Amino acid sequence: MSSTLLSTNWPVARKKYRCEQCQTPIEPGTKHRKEAGIWEGGFYTNREHTDCGEASHEIWLNAGLGYDEGIWLHEEYWNEPEFTGAFLLEKYPEVAARLGVKPTSVIAPVPGDGE
Ligand SMILES: [Zn+2]
Repeated sequence: MSSTLLSTNWPVARKKYRCEQCQTPIEPGTKHRKEAGIWEGGFYTNREHTDCGEASHEIWLNAGLGYDEGIWLHEEYWNEPEFTGAFLLEKYPEVAARLGVKPTSVIAPVPGDGE
């Protein structure tokens, strides 16, 4: 796999876009993150909510993934709903709300576990 990041900027949306991270709309007038580059030989443009991008990046850092291993929040939440949901509820509640994470869906750690 190869990817080349060509540009990153933070424009204000002039029309409605879809956030690649949470799959919900980026409403017109919203400042958001736009990334353009080359992936597998093809040109791409991604747009995402600024905080979605930050949450994704933090999960990516915590997971210790390589440069070419990106993650998408909606896939991450689908694959690891308890872990990712708990993380987002604690640190990025607005992102959690966009993804439909509900506090009741989070499985709390068992007290005394790990002793
Ligand atoms: Zn988003």
